Amino acid sequence: MPSYVIDEKCDGCKGQDRTACMYICPNDLMILDAEAMKAYNQEPEFCWECYNCVKICPQQAVDVRGYADFVPMGASVVPLRGSEDIMWTVKFRNGTIKRFKFPIRTTDEGTAVPDVGFPEGPGDLNDQNLWTEPQSGGLDVLPTK
Ligand code: SF4
Ligand code: SF4
Repeated sequence: MPSYVIDEKCDGCKGQDRTACMYICPNDLMILDAEAMKAYNQEPEFCWECYNCVKICPQQAVDVRGYADFVPMGASVVPLRGSEDIMWTVKFRNGTIKRFKFPIRTTDEGTAVPDVGFPEGPGDLNDQNLWTEPQSGGLDVLPTK
């Protein structure tokens, strides 16, 4: 289910040119209504539910409606981002609440190395290997039947 903004919590990132949710969305779906100072998901059908906007929002104003088959009847999963980790609060439908922390990988903007040093693949779209396979899978050759 796509992300949505909880109006009461969103402060429009205090009127910055580009809000945190606009910055992080890989699909450029989040947009700010500058008059109302509220962000919204302008194309929910294209949302990947990647949770990036949910995790980055400083006001915890973005949520993703969970699918009814795995988070029915009011269950929720809410992240709270710290500087070193994210605290996830999982609320079960019987009211039980569990929390766990997961460390953040902090890579400075522009410093990520997509192929992590593995040699590039053949660049052939018809090849069954992914870009850095088979080496990144620890193989010399992709197994075949
Ligand atoms: S990041 Fe959060 S507070 Fe900032 S504009 Fe988006 S929804 Fe609103
Ligand atoms: S969940 Fe991901 S794809 Fe969907 S609006 Fe948020 S950042 Fe964009």
